[in-house]
Amino acid sequence: MTWVRAHAPGRVNLIGEHTDYNAGFALPIALEAGTVVDFEVGGADATIHAGSDRKPDSVAVPLDTSPSTHRVTGWGGYVAGSVWALREFGVAVPAGRMRITSTVPVGAGLSSSAALECAVLCALTAAAGAVVDRTELARIAQRAENEYVGAPTGLLDQLAALYGEPDTALLIDFRSVRVTPVPLESAGGVWLAIDSRSPHRNASGEYADRRRACERAAELLGAPSLRDVADDDWRQLADDELRRRARHVLTENRRVLDGAAALRSGDATGFGALMRASHASMRDDFEITTPAIDLIAATADRLGAYGARMTGGGFGGTVIAFAPQDAADRIAAELPDTVAAAGHPRPGCTRIRPGAGAHLLPDTEPARRTAAPPP
Ligand code: ADP
Ligand code: MG
Repeated sequence: MTWVRAHAPGRVNLIGEHTDYNAGFALPIALEAGTVVDFEVGGADATIHAGSDRKPDSVAVPLDTSPSTHRVTGWGGYVAGSVWALREFGVAVPAGRMRITSTVPVGAGLSSSAALECAVLCALTAAAGAVVDRTELARIAQRAENEYVGAPTGLLDQLAALYGEPDTALLIDFRSVRVTPVPLESAGGVWLAIDSRSPHRNASGEYADRRRACERAAELLGAPSLRDVADDDWRQLADDELRRRARHVLTENRRVLDGAAALRSGDATGFGALMRASHASMRDDFEITTPAIDLIAATADRLGAYGARMTGGGFGGTVIAFAPQDAADRIAAELPDTVAAAGHPRPGCTRIRPGAGAHLLPDTEPARRTAAPPP
């Protein structure tokens, strides 16, 4: 095999924020939007040359790259980290040329990073003739992002990118790392991703801070993680901030389980109410929203959404709204003006549909075999 082509999607989390590193629950969907990696095997220089339609610079990734030697920085770090983690896992990654094209907005909270890692891993495993279980691939992608790129993210993005299915949400239990499909047809409704277009301010520092607070709360409660304490054990914490941090995680886990049940039974209104409660918890207890994000969520609610909430790590990014069709039309027409009139960046509103997880695509353009190799 000389050419492989792999696709991996972005994701949006419907509910369950900052629960992944607390061994809790989340309910993401994979998107139809995704990243495609074309990989042509070959070359005697033990290097992968990669270019992306999103970046002006191409990168050279030595196969023996590691976080300590021949470390690639910038966007190439996501490719290099994936190469490194896959080799560490024992797959003989071949040299070659890689062309990356993507329809996932970068840095908008839709996990373009996991889409890139998972598309790269899917292409490289196929090119190496290896078969790696999806949960294992998710861990490899996470290792690339944590240990090579240096972003301390949980496993949510990668599991969603690998396990996605059309018209389906994914109930993830991060303790057992089990993924259970939740069909979305019976709830109906429309999903909107509303990009705040406001920058993430010190998001990684704040993320690390929240993570430490959760670890500290669990430690004070004498448990290995917040998953191991009872729903109202946050009341035992003396420190007000730690109480609120723990309360967010514990109530959010409950909302994820209730939300999956609501969607299964077609209860759109019930799921919307849980989304609103989740947003309030992120705003008041976990303190990870921004004024622009709060206004977007409140405006979507006011215009008739079943519910709306910030999705992703916080401090900017995207709001997901779940709405009947007529309210979705109203939101798309009116919300950007309302938010811009309040002095915030004008949000972008996109209808999203749950799509398939990472997979190989047929080489649909055999002519490319003889065309010039990608940059
Ligand atoms: P998010 O995952 O929410 O989009 P991140 O900050 O986690 O935001 O990841 C974005 C980074 O991932 C980009 O700055 C870039 O380095 C890299 N990246 C993601 N997708 C691509 C792509 N298609 N081409 C090149 N780099 C990409
Ligand atoms: Mg990311």
